[in-house]
Amino acid sequence: MGNTDDTDGDGAAARLHHLQQYYREHPVTGPAEGHRTTVHSGAPLSLATLDHVTASVREVAEHTYAVNPGAGPIPESVAAVYDWCHAHTEHAPETVRARGEVIEFRQFLEHAIRAGDHAVVRKQRCPKCRTWGLMWQQQMQRAVCTNTDCVDRDGFSRTFDLARLAYEHVAARKNLRQASAT
Ligand SMILES: [Zn+2]
Repeated sequence: MGNTDDTDGDGAAARLHHLQQYYREHPVTGPAEGHRTTVHSGAPLSLATLDHVTASVREVAEHTYAVNPGAGPIPESVAAVYDWCHAHTEHAPETVRARGEVIEFRQFLEHAIRAGDHAVVRKQRCPKCRTWGLMWQQQMQRAVCTNTDCVDRDGFSRTFDLARLAYEHVAARKNLRQASAT
């Protein structure tokens, strides 16, 4: 921490907090405890959001414990999980920390998209042609490049998952840091 480019980290925490608030304000009104019902595909959004929040925290925690088994308990406030991860992985090798940064930035994108903010992918350059023309395709769960010259061998528009966009984002940020450090 301490560098001025930590807004992405704050972004992920703020987004996660927002989702958790959403869940709290739209609680799942399920059957009373003890009644067993089959969960159909139209499960309430808030339940899916809770799953998302839980899975996100678990992923960050697994990364943190893999790097630092003595990291102690996960913070009670879910949005604090990123700072907790930073604090317990800051002495890890650069490549290991980069992996954490990729997870965090991918989650930032995931949280935004889950909250309906699809424009977040437009702020990322296309990993192939480097232009600003990515659009989110909800059904594919991928970003598609709208540059008509940016196609694969079969002539289809190139698409990218959020992990790829996050990887490219972190790599670009590192190059920038290295360039300014020399
Ligand atoms: Zn492209």
